[in-house]
Amino acid sequence: MMTAVRKALVIGAGIAGLTTAAGLVRQGVEVEVFEARTAPGQLLSGGGFMLWHNAFLALRRIGLDEAVAADAVRMRYHEFRSDRGRRLARWQLDRYTAGCGAPACALRRSSLHKVLTEAVGDHRIRLGSRLTGWSQDADGVTVRFEDGSTARGDVLVGADGLRSAVRAVMRRNFEPPPRYAGYTAWQAITRLPGEQVVPTGTFFNLWGRGGLRFLYCRLNENEVYWDAITSDRAAGGIDTMGSTRRAALGAAYRAWPEPVGRIIASTDEDAILPVSIHDRPPGGRWTQGRVVLVGDAAHPMTLNLSQGAGQAIESGVVLAGLLGRASAEDLPRTLAAFEASRRGRAADMTTTSWRIGRLGLVHGSLLCGIRDLFMRAAFDTIARDQSYGLMLDDRLERTPIPAADRNAR
Ligand SMILES: Cc1cc2nc3c(=O)[nH]c(=O)nc-3n(C[C@H](O)[C@H](O)[C@H](O)COP(=O)(O)OP(=O)(O)OC[C@H]3O[C@@H](n4cnc5c(N)ncnc54)[C@H](O)[C@@H]3O)c2cc1C
Repeated sequence: MMTAVRKALVIGAGIAGLTTAAGLVRQGVEVEVFEARTAPGQLLSGGGFMLWHNAFLALRRIGLDEAVAADAVRMRYHEFRSDRGRRLARWQLDRYTAGCGAPACALRRSSLHKVLTEAVGDHRIRLGSRLTGWSQDADGVTVRFEDGSTARGDVLVGADGLRSAVRAVMRRNFEPPPRYAGYTAWQAITRLPGEQVVPTGTFFNLWGRGGLRFLYCRLNENEVYWDAITSDRAAGGIDTMGSTRRAALGAAYRAWPEPVGRIIASTDEDAILPVSIHDRPPGGRWTQGRVVLVGDAAHPMTLNLSQGAGQAIESGVVLAGLLGRASAEDLPRTLAAFEASRRGRAADMTTTSWRIGRLGLVHGSLLCGIRDLFMRAAFDTIARDQSYGLMLDDRLERTPIPAADRNAR
């Protein structure tokens, strides 16, 4: 007789780990999540971001789309502009929302974490547990933590992000480090009320000369989320040693149209967090026996498509769905099926996102002018159709899911 998967160990309480765990809890699989950070408050830190329609379609499969959307602001337009304020393209998102039945939203990361954490249950999340190693045998997986403790389960889910320790053991520490993209994202949330300053419902995406970009959108009536993306060459001129980050970014973007200067000037110095952007070129296995990688641990991508979390959610939902009906004896095959169903889509996202990032590295005025012309000619048509073709292709829908979840809504 086949035995069901009794216990899953999930490493990392980020978006991928919590989504996988929430999907498993929903199907009655025993799950324990181990998170290296020590304070629950730290898990709730972090800025805002975009979740596109596909993320909500995936969340719907584990019954969480409405809870996440409740604390998010629905985006109606995605608008591209030059650093002279000229509109290059404007995507109307309502028609896609109506077409696929799920919104695109901006939200605080902490809001998503709160919904996911509640779905998993605090008692299933062990904080201050940093994985240092794992081993597997015919009956299960044993994981070891920094404090000397161990845990054992049927399956190990490595959801521990870009520099995954689970992945490092899988690769026997023999893998190049993540690939640096050549730019930094300085992200923050600022208090800036005023519809006339930043209108609700538009995601603004500004592309400038000198390797600079600037993204912003309203999160609620008082707050605005923004991301200043600076190439290495541009960053050479951003002096954060001699002045504050706010002042240095204010100087770098001083010639840009409002509200860019106003947004930067309104931001608390401590709220501005620079993150250097990395991914991994697609390739290499995500599974080994009873061990599987998910989210950034498996398929880290640059931020240009705003899809890293969306793909982490998709992968978590699909993995949980497959594990919920897997037999313990057949685990390696189930995990391999998971990888096969997700690999192509995640790789396409990673590659497309990387290419878009290269466009942002253009510095000179002439090349940027050509890029503006290209964006004006192609972004409202070809680029939008390609982007949506990828985002809403049918690979997620084709993935087998358990009947219980299929009937969930
Ligand atoms: C600037 C920026 C903007 C972005 N904007 C968007 C966006 O708009 N939309 C979008 O969809 N995506 C966006 N992304 C991508 C998105 O943030 C990531 O893809 C997503 O957070 C990945 O989630 P994860 O759970 O896989 O990894 P992580 O969020 O990195 O979570 C991993 C967790 O594992 C824990 N951990 C690590 N090592 C261990 C260990 N050894 N033991 C135990 N626990 C461990 C960590 O503490 C962490 O909590 C953005 C990324 C950046 C950098």
